[in-house]
Amino acid sequence: MASKKVESVKVAVRCRPMSEKEIVDGRACIVQVDAKRGELIVANPKPDTSEPPRQFTYDNTYGQDSAQEQIYCDTAYPIVQSVLEGYNGTIFAYGQTGTGKTFTMEGKEEPQENRGIIPRAFEQIFYGVDQHPQTQFLIRASFLEIYNEDVHDLLSKSSKNKLDIKESPDSGFYVKDLTTCVVKGIEDMKAVMDLGKGNRHVGETLMNRDSSRSHSIFTITIESSESDNTGINHYKVGKLNLVDLAGSERQSKTGSTGDRLKEATNINKSLLTLGNVISALVDGASTHIPYRDSKLTKLLQDSLGGNTKTVMIANIGPADWNYDETLSTLRYANRAKNIQNKPKINEDPKDAMLRELQDEIARLRAQLGDG
Ligand code: ADP
Ligand code: MG
Repeated sequence: MASKKVESVKVAVRCRPMSEKEIVDGRACIVQVDAKRGELIVANPKPDTSEPPRQFTYDNTYGQDSAQEQIYCDTAYPIVQSVLEGYNGTIFAYGQTGTGKTFTMEGKEEPQENRGIIPRAFEQIFYGVDQHPQTQFLIRASFLEIYNEDVHDLLSKSSKNKLDIKESPDSGFYVKDLTTCVVKGIEDMKAVMDLGKGNRHVGETLMNRDSSRSHSIFTITIESSESDNTGINHYKVGKLNLVDLAGSERQSKTGSTGDRLKEATNINKSLLTLGNVISALVDGASTHIPYRDSKLTKLLQDSLGGNTKTVMIANIGPADWNYDETLSTLRYANRAKNIQNKPKINEDPKDAMLRELQDEIARLRAQLGDG
């Protein structure tokens, strides 16, 4: 039996490069990163205050010239490896809109080195599968979006449909009727990703949604079975959540009114609850953790104070005009460092689909043999 060790949420902070506009506008760079020490210093750009520079330390920090590959190796690689071994893992990107959450999670297809965490995870998973020819794998993917506290299935054509979140005594919260696709290789996985991105785009256009206000969760479930020397099969199931959160900026900055404000309020509800869950877990003063207060925290319950290996990548911009938001993100990330999880391998789950499929094949074989 695997031992249940306490493990803190890992927190990395990534500062994107100055944008062209920031350079043209002559904005000052206020963020300095010492990647070797995992440190980051933010200078105070406000001439009218005497606030000193702030220093922060995280598991990893990345400056403006950081490489996607480096970030993958440090943050995602160990998690994906654990998921192949039957652990649950979550990687989520937090930060203000425009700071590089989607660049970090998805990246760009060209040039190759700009591939983000999600396509690299696909590659690692199928490489891992190829390395274990004696093991049988069943890999499935689902892709959803939380917008306005409604859950939308990004793999179903009618992405307007709102799905319900249910609770099971064994596996906690789950999305009822969510499409899951069996994937046999990198190309399948990319096709699933593209389908979801396409549906998300259609939803944005038809429903006038703003993607920076929605949370997306791409989930990969890896079931594996290996037979021991007595011929008995042992099953494991690992689940990987790849989460691109809505922009964390305060609403005053975007000047929302009317419908947009309602949206913002709801989306803030998920992000706000995420913050409340983190506080409750970290302060330890209360035994009540408000997971049930939002869709996002219900679905990520296991990743925060549960049985999951979790990495948070907080994204920030380097320019002076983002000072307040940057500090707010850095403080948020600082608190998240103190969340403790107890990851364990999910062995022989009752509902392993691979077991059902293998039993079915055995039944059919027996019938053929009988006939
Ligand atoms: P977010 O998803 O947080 O709103 P994006 O990922 O869309 O932000 O990034 C905003 C812009 O900045 C995009 O044009 C993106 O390509 C660019 N960008 C973000 N991070 C980086 C980076 N580390 N290197 C190069 N370009 C980046
Ligand atoms: Mg984005």
